[in-house]
Amino acid sequence: MTTPIPATLIPGDGIGPEIVDATLAALDALKAPFEWDRQIAGLGGVQAHGDPLPQATLDSIRRTRLALKGPLETPSGGGYRSSNVRLREEFQLYANVRPARTIIPGGRFDNIDLLVVRENLEGLYIGHEHYVPIDGDPHAVAMATGVNTRQGSRRLLEYAFELAIATGRKKVTIVHKANIMKALTGLFLETGEELWARKYKDRIALDTVIIDACAMKLVLNPWQFDVLVTTNLFGDILSDLVAGLVGGLGMAPGANIGADAAIFEAVHGSAPDIAGKGIANPTALLLAAAMMLDHCKLTDEATRLRQAIDATLNIDKVRTGDLGGSASTAAYAQALVSRIKNG
Ligand code: ATP
Ligand code: MG
Repeated sequence: MTTPIPATLIPGDGIGPEIVDATLAALDALKAPFEWDRQIAGLGGVQAHGDPLPQATLDSIRRTRLALKGPLETPSGGGYRSSNVRLREEFQLYANVRPARTIIPGGRFDNIDLLVVRENLEGLYIGHEHYVPIDGDPHAVAMATGVNTRQGSRRLLEYAFELAIATGRKKVTIVHKANIMKALTGLFLETGEELWARKYKDRIALDTVIIDACAMKLVLNPWQFDVLVTTNLFGDILSDLVAGLVGGLGMAPGANIGADAAIFEAVHGSAPDIAGKGIANPTALLLAAAMMLDHCKLTDEATRLRQAIDATLNIDKVRTGDLGGSASTAAYAQALVSRIKNG
């Protein structure tokens, strides 16, 4: 018998509970050994405890060090900071890993298999922003400070090289803007080149590209890339771009990895426009669950889940509306569960 693995489950807001239900059905069918501790956060946290990130939720993740999370809405007004950003800071989840792989062929781009590794804690996301008043205009000048550290860059780059090698990738591309932001992104680039020369040059190829050229190349010929590693803001933008190459937000999973915890999620938000209608596509969260299985070394279960998703979408052609189909979330989950059980 497999040892139970304690894990925190946060259904989240909007379509969160619907896609979480579908994902739990698939994980149950796989007999994945997770022992769920259900917790709340986001808008749900505000309604129940007046806090988008209640202490009980933080305590749970501190104990399990592992979480599957539905999207969390950041309540507007009330001075709430994004719970997603707070979670990353609280558990020092320094690496954001976002794979983009074609599952449904015949789109504009076929056979895409890219991995974006984004620095998750530094750069222009640290939130040091302010205005400078001039001549009675309180917002005459807006300023933002970005901070990249050599240590923070190195641990992220090291994670990216190790992950690329462990998963049989061929090339890592550092994406930067060191020609303009010479200090902020130059430090990241230089740290990566130095680390590669010292530790990785015999094991994997390295390439570097400027962010603007990278955006163009990704649209003209995405197959020239393999693993893209970059700073926080560029990673945010590039991971949505590569999600677009493989069918959109409904298909894009993400993992937030730190030394002490890992949180798996869909890249998309809570999609309030379709919440409660039973039509959301749970594939992104299902693929995040597959990443979570891999993380726990449950490789067979992860592979079976990915194969079942593939078969449900491509052989059974059971698809939700965002993919041009007419299946409900529940019907898709049911088809997936029978693929898991019967192959
Ligand atoms: P949030 O404020 O939480 O970020 P959002 O309204 O920005 O929520 P996103 O998740 O960013 O929502 O998605 C934008 C739009 O894409 C949604 O409004 C929805 O129509 C569509 N969408 C996103 N995720 C899915 C999904 N899993 N299935 C179907 N449609 C989706
Ligand atoms: Mg959004």
